[in-house]
Amino acid sequence: MSFNMLSYSIMRSDEQEQLDRTVRRLVSDRSAARKAAENVSGTDPELLSQLGALGLLGISLPSDMDGSELGLAEECIVVEALGEQVAPVPIVSIYLACHILSACPDATDVAAALASGQTVAGPLINADGSFPNALVTPGIECATHLSSDVPFAFEGTSLTSFLVHADDAWWVVDAHGPGVERSDLKSLDTTRPMARVKLVEAPAKRIGCFPPGDLQKIAQCLIAAEAVGVAQGALNLITEYALQREQFGQPIGRFQAIKQNLANCLLKLESGRSSLWGALRSVADGVPDGAASHLAKAAATEAASFAASESVQMHGAIGCTWEHDLHLLMRRSKHCEISFGSPSSHLQRLGEKALELYGAKRRKSGSSNKPEQDIGFVPSQADADFLIEFQTWLDEHAPPEKISQLRRADLAGRRAWQAEMAEGNWAGIHWPVEYGGRAASFTQQVLYYAELTKRGVPPLPGNRGLMLVGPTLFTHGTDEQKKLLEPTRRADILWAGGFSERGAGSDLASLSTRAVVDDEKLVINGHKIWTSQAQYADWMYALVRTGPQHPKRDGISVVVFPMDAPGVEVRPIRRNNGDYHFNEVFFNDVTIPLSSLIGPKNAGWSVNRTTMQGEHLTNFLGAHASQARTIRRIAGMLQQREAESGLDVGLRQRFNTLWSTTQIIHLHGLRNVARFTSGADVGSESSITKIVGQENEKAMFEFLIDVMGSAGLEESIWTSAYLSTRASTIGGGTSEIHRNKLAERVLGMPRDLWADEEVDIAQAAE
Ligand SMILES: Cc1cc2nc3c(=O)[nH]c(=O)nc-3n(C[C@H](O)[C@H](O)[C@H](O)COP(=O)(O)OP(=O)(O)OC[C@H]3O[C@@H](n4cnc5c(N)ncnc54)[C@H](O)[C@@H]3O)c2cc1C
Repeated sequence: MSFNMLSYSIMRSDEQEQLDRTVRRLVSDRSAARKAAENVSGTDPELLSQLGALGLLGISLPSDMDGSELGLAEECIVVEALGEQVAPVPIVSIYLACHILSACPDATDVAAALASGQTVAGPLINADGSFPNALVTPGIECATHLSSDVPFAFEGTSLTSFLVHADDAWWVVDAHGPGVERSDLKSLDTTRPMARVKLVEAPAKRIGCFPPGDLQKIAQCLIAAEAVGVAQGALNLITEYALQREQFGQPIGRFQAIKQNLANCLLKLESGRSSLWGALRSVADGVPDGAASHLAKAAATEAASFAASESVQMHGAIGCTWEHDLHLLMRRSKHCEISFGSPSSHLQRLGEKALELYGAKRRKSGSSNKPEQDIGFVPSQADADFLIEFQTWLDEHAPPEKISQLRRADLAGRRAWQAEMAEGNWAGIHWPVEYGGRAASFTQQVLYYAELTKRGVPPLPGNRGLMLVGPTLFTHGTDEQKKLLEPTRRADILWAGGFSERGAGSDLASLSTRAVVDDEKLVINGHKIWTSQAQYADWMYALVRTGPQHPKRDGISVVVFPMDAPGVEVRPIRRNNGDYHFNEVFFNDVTIPLSSLIGPKNAGWSVNRTTMQGEHLTNFLGAHASQARTIRRIAGMLQQREAESGLDVGLRQRFNTLWSTTQIIHLHGLRNVARFTSGADVGSESSITKIVGQENEKAMFEFLIDVMGSAGLEESIWTSAYLSTRASTIGGGTSEIHRNKLAERVLGMPRDLWADEEVDIAQAAE
């Protein structure tokens, strides 16, 4: 059993929180940035010395160099907080210098001067991240001279000591010394001024070695952290403004166009944040993984540029003025984007690595090259014991040949498999022990799903019953109703979820299927639509209107009844790919006992809500695993196409984006797991995973057909998947509804005037 260790937690330690607060107290607005924007030199010396006085400049230096021996994660916390306020200090260069100096025992004096703020040292590097060619000329009496020409030296104006890479070593050059010609450039971001630096036989002191490739990775992470800060700053500005600015008698944040765009900014920001987190947790021996830092740099800087630019648009004319802070954020975002390589160049390298890894190996060995799943936490002993017990059971009951059979099995075969799992108490593991479950903890559920996914075991046919109906029954049901639990667990009862109606889709609370109390009975009339698998279901779990006189949400109840009750008629609806997945279900005087109500009459909305918590979290591994499988397959197809017809740049770029998004979805999921296991509420933020995952799935299958070219036009499982995945962003609540949810519940925008509060609760069940 091998699990990746977390080297950096999404939940910051108390010390890290304290560090963040310290920086934010020091730089709580953009007044320093405004001042620096007015002059070419950019740097705020006072702020720099305050950072030095607080010990924040040399935080990753060893203690014998007057440092605090902290790491890249802490540096990123500082850089992010400073980035949010576009602080005019060359902190990225300084932190890069710390990493070089830490590896150079002969540089104690430079390091100590840097930690105190006396010296502003940084690598002499082009803004695009390339290292200049430097010529070493040995001089008389061991003196050495360096010559070089750096047209756009990163933060070049602000540095007082250059660290120059030449002859596989690092050298210190006094930026104000002989042989140094520096002309300050008026940079787009005047708070990060570049300079043209020419070294003409400048005296230099050799200090030691540090791999430039490692420095690049560290730089990509630091810039990514800064970009996350910039994106957050831009989003904060527009969130505040959207609540306060009124047009047409409403805060503009009530308008859909604004809400959807705010959600887009949040989605990009969180992608940047997850990618950065992914890079930081990959740090080994002080250096992040190459692919993870490419991803962080690409996603975070793209987020910063997007959020800054969209924030301007959503501000209207005020956002285009010199007075408004937005231009500071825009300028910094562009510097972040271009410095150390553009997002597309990083995505390209990521894509190349992925193709190399998945495509070539797969074709060579014929293996599917399945990587070990990364679950995002280290299991406790109890969890590890739980997993071993499950693995032992699976070894005995689900050898590989049986799993192959199950993948081809009909419904009866799959029901039998669920019954076998229920026999071993491996169906509904989160259910209480008294109802046949194992009261499995959240982490145990994650391990359980990861194991099933790893072995390729197909999903259970009764998942809707296990995830949705079961918890409702054991939480709210009567003793009589709880008798449905055991057959549900064994898949003797398969359930249909009756929520949507022709007139009630996104606005579920306007459903009109009526249930009237008649004596001790309920008489149901109306219909449901898009009901998945109702043609096979034995029972229905439905929301019906029992209180037409009440406000919309208050007059709804949950009822359960058998599908063969007289008056229930199922009419399958053919999907765009030709199969029959969902149905319309009609109720004509369907008469069921009053005891079919789950929970009190008219309390259906809240009854339904309690059952949904956490369900989507445990499923994330499965969702990611299937996308990861698809992208690996696509990688092979793309390589084959390129071998036959040459490189198609457009397709390559789309592949790069899809591949990186698949990684981000995984990281989002891991962050959710980390938050959930530490007791934090994930809540509405889970919409982020949903939106990104669903949109990526759609785009993937569209791409797959395009890669196949004319062969993709022949009807196949791929054309079927391409067509059916058009529904990915509709079922379970549309992407637009989830974006509204993010804007309203995460960013605090006012609700639509016409909307009910909880329109999407039931939809999560699909
Ligand atoms: C594959 C699949 C399986 C499904 N399974 C089930 C099931 O088992 N049981 C069940 O009950 N239902 C099921 N559904 C139905 C699903 O819940 C609904 O399709 C979904 O809630 C959207 O409702 P609608 O189709 O009526 O679209 P509408 O609500 O009519 O939406 C039409 C368009 O308007 C947009 N829109 C609507 N309101 C807003 C708003 N306030 N702000 C911005 N945009 C808005 C939507 O985003 C969408 O683009 C399934 C759907 C699919 C695709």
